[in-house]
Amino acid sequence: MAKEEAPLNFIEHIIEEDLTTTHTQDELRFRFPPEPNGYLHIGHASSICLNFGLGERYKAPVNLRFDDTNPAKEEQEFVDAIKRDISWLGFEWAEERYASDYFQELYDWAVQLIKDGKAYVDSQTSEQIAEQKGTPNSPGTESPFRNRPVEESLDLFEKMKNGELGEGKHTLRAKIDMTSGNMLMRDPVMYRVLHKSHHRTGTDWKIFPMYDWTHGESDYIERVSHSLCTLEFLPHRELYNWFLDQVHEKDTLRPKQREFARRNLSHTVVSKRKLAKLVEEGVVDSWDDPRMPTISGLRRRGYTPESIKNFVDSIGVGKRENVIDVSHLEFNVREDLNKRAPRVMAVLNPIKLVITNYPEGKTEMLEAENNQEDESAGYREVPFSRELYIEKEDFKEEANRKFFRLTLNKEVRLKNAYIIKGESVVKDAEGNITEIHCTYDPDSKSGSGSEASKRKVKGTLHWVSVNDALPVEVRLYDRLFTEASPDADKEKDFMEFINPNSLEVITAYAEPSLKNLEVEDKVQFQRLGYFVVDKDTSEEKIVFNRTVPLRDSWGKIDKK
Ligand code: ATP
Ligand code: MG
Repeated sequence: MAKEEAPLNFIEHIIEEDLTTTHTQDELRFRFPPEPNGYLHIGHASSICLNFGLGERYKAPVNLRFDDTNPAKEEQEFVDAIKRDISWLGFEWAEERYASDYFQELYDWAVQLIKDGKAYVDSQTSEQIAEQKGTPNSPGTESPFRNRPVEESLDLFEKMKNGELGEGKHTLRAKIDMTSGNMLMRDPVMYRVLHKSHHRTGTDWKIFPMYDWTHGESDYIERVSHSLCTLEFLPHRELYNWFLDQVHEKDTLRPKQREFARRNLSHTVVSKRKLAKLVEEGVVDSWDDPRMPTISGLRRRGYTPESIKNFVDSIGVGKRENVIDVSHLEFNVREDLNKRAPRVMAVLNPIKLVITNYPEGKTEMLEAENNQEDESAGYREVPFSRELYIEKEDFKEEANRKFFRLTLNKEVRLKNAYIIKGESVVKDAEGNITEIHCTYDPDSKSGSGSEASKRKVKGTLHWVSVNDALPVEVRLYDRLFTEASPDADKEKDFMEFINPNSLEVITAYAEPSLKNLEVEDKVQFQRLGYFVVDKDTSEEKIVFNRTVPLRDSWGKIDKK
């Protein structure tokens, strides 16, 4: 369904309503506001698609605004990664903005609030302030500094700014209401002192504004009409509006904060802080490790932008937080890769098959279809010879009638090649099978049109010619956590649920055509799954990541 034809989500309903009352279409403006303290994850993809999707629907600008007010955690590397990921998803921002661009304006407005008696410098520690907060059922206690003279607050605030006062000793607080039923309205902190270098402003600023003070004013400066955030910010809305009311004339166009539900994914964690811990503790190699639910990890895993956007569209925009099973994400990538990934043959767990009646030393090139789902994908040639690799699991010496793969005295087809019949096995001293011997029917070549080629056999196996096989490294990934919701239990650390077997590295044998692939090229290893060329590929070896196995592949093949 084209975007325009999709039913409206509840945020779009709100905007449609506003278009009939408070806003004209050219007043619509949105932003995506990540904090550059980590890489974007699949949860962010929901927010990106929502904001940029609104931009597309209403032909409105969407800014990329870095919410960079905490120099302790933010870095240029994260800014760069965030920009790369949004572009890769296929979205273009109107302007690249930074909350730190507004530090001077925010400071000037804060000074005005002090002069108006609406803010004061508190000279208590954060622990003391926390003790006075009260509880939702009992009022807080006013700070002994709440009514200090305006001049004194102005003087201290300037000293805070100039770095004359140390960290943790003074804060600027809004003077609102210590008895408010909304805890966030109990004189929230607007500024703290931090003597840390900021990735953009360096050491120019020694005070840094808090989220609530910064966000609404930044929206106002950028003339954002709808400031969309996740549901946990619902109680912040009152404060967001309070700040706007103190600083700006009532009749100017105000940004509106509206909330939607966070999207969580099963068997992983979607929180930059927790993902950072996985990187720091070496559980994964990097932020773009293919096991990570980051956009760059999914990209390296073989996901396409379309598969991620289709996933996000299919789960929609909601008002209730939920956990989406990771199999739903995998479904979307399979659907997409099924259309675009060329089919090739590779054997992950090889055993040698010898065709005893095939001429020694002969190699013939067989024609193979690149993608039966896409005729324009064309054909390629695959070498066939007397000795082949097939999957160990595709052979059993003895098997019941339901085993439709190779067994002794039964026929199967080799994909794109001939019908073969199992004859005997060669075993080592311990009784392990080292070779399977078979015979082939020379008249049964696929696509030859002969009577023999039309003979129905129950199974079809993939294979690779031993002499022509290309050894490749294959990285098989499994879920990073053993629990569906590793961070649901507040008593336990999510790190306890890490799956120790989330990565298996093997050498596989692939058809030689694969040596022409480039990093990020995607293929289907027939009957096995979708694989992508990893950036660790070098002149010496090609490295593949398994994106997803083919679901039910065995089931389907056995039933044919
Ligand atoms: P994290 O805890 O991972 O750092 P955050 O909300 O603090 O998440 P921000 O960088 O502040 O991260 O997020 C930018 C935008 O993305 C915000 O509007 C935020 O609400 C939204 N967002 C973050 N996580 C999710 C999620 N899981 N589902 C939907 N939207 C999300
Ligand atoms: Mg955050």
